[in-house]
Amino acid sequence: MLLDSFQRVHNYLRISLTDQCNFRCTYCMPEENYHCHSGEELMSPNEILKLTEQFVKMGVNKVRLTGGEPLMRKDFSEILSLISTLPIKITLTTNAVLVDKYLDDLKKAGVKSVNVSIDSLNEDVFFEITKRNQFHRVWNNILLLLKNDFEVKLNVVAMKGHIEKEFLDFLNLTKIYPLEVRFIEFMPFSGNGWNSNMVVTASEMLNWANQSFSLRKMDDLPHATTKKYEIEGHLGSVAFITTMTSHFCGDCNRLRLTAEGKMKNCLFGKDEVDLLSALRGNESIESLILESVQKKHQTLGGQLVSDFHKIDANAIENRSMIEIGG
Ligand code: SAM
Ligand code: SF4
Repeated sequence: MLLDSFQRVHNYLRISLTDQCNFRCTYCMPEENYHCHSGEELMSPNEILKLTEQFVKMGVNKVRLTGGEPLMRKDFSEILSLISTLPIKITLTTNAVLVDKYLDDLKKAGVKSVNVSIDSLNEDVFFEITKRNQFHRVWNNILLLLKNDFEVKLNVVAMKGHIEKEFLDFLNLTKIYPLEVRFIEFMPFSGNGWNSNMVVTASEMLNWANQSFSLRKMDDLPHATTKKYEIEGHLGSVAFITTMTSHFCGDCNRLRLTAEGKMKNCLFGKDEVDLLSALRGNESIESLILESVQKKHQTLGGQLVSDFHKIDANAIENRSMIEIGG
């Protein structure tokens, strides 16, 4: 069992398959000319299988594939088919541009739930944020996932200046579609220009929601990162990821693997352990994993503070989000 020094059990691994992306969301990928890892630097499908197997032996039973854009991996089908032989629940976070290409693979591997990032329902604003003209493709792929009975959650980063204009449009989506729309408080990562004035809090958004709709708090599952609400008469639901205003470190069960096989015990931590080099050198992976879990900080990677107004983004040592894997 992967127990840390605060008695938290870790059974959930988020694997970044690549730090390449077909979008350029500025809150995630700081520079247009970002240098991605490639070839030998990345974990191969077999290495992903071997590392995941080791985590599974130690108690992991849920894996999320993420990135960068995970569907950019040319060998995505092979990776998925290899890890689907393990006793784990597999989920995916994607910008959905390539979902239609991999729909059958996802079904075959038993994936039931997909998180799709979409920050605007307006074609022009979508382009402004992602720097790519792919709104219709993304939207059609969201509909395709729903049509094929996937559970679909939309991830929307709540950026000041954008979210005010479209918040109610996203809520209106839940009236006719069985979507969970999740608003994520904007988080600081290396080079993403974060400052506390750009954060729109979940309580602000909840106030806006209550002015137009009748919301009811739903029960949150153990280890949930979201606080969920249902809206009277709507098919879908709404949720808030309150990392900045009310962190959920207390019962965190999550570990991460970057695309080049570095283990991170926290999204906000600076500590990394090079599991891929150890695997390639035939060294023990198990002891490295145990050591990393033991070193996990109690809250926010030991770097951020609970009052987000007091966070100095320049003092944080971490990668950019695209390099970590969301
Ligand atoms: N490319 C995939 C996608 O966009 O869904 C997967 C990777 S992306 C890094 C994973 C999630 O992290 C996305 O939902 C994205 O919106 C979120 N994200 C990235 N940077 C963020 C930030 N600074 N604050 C909050 N969420 C962020
Ligand atoms: Fe790419 Fe996802 Fe980051 Fe946007 S949020 S740049 S789609 S990895």
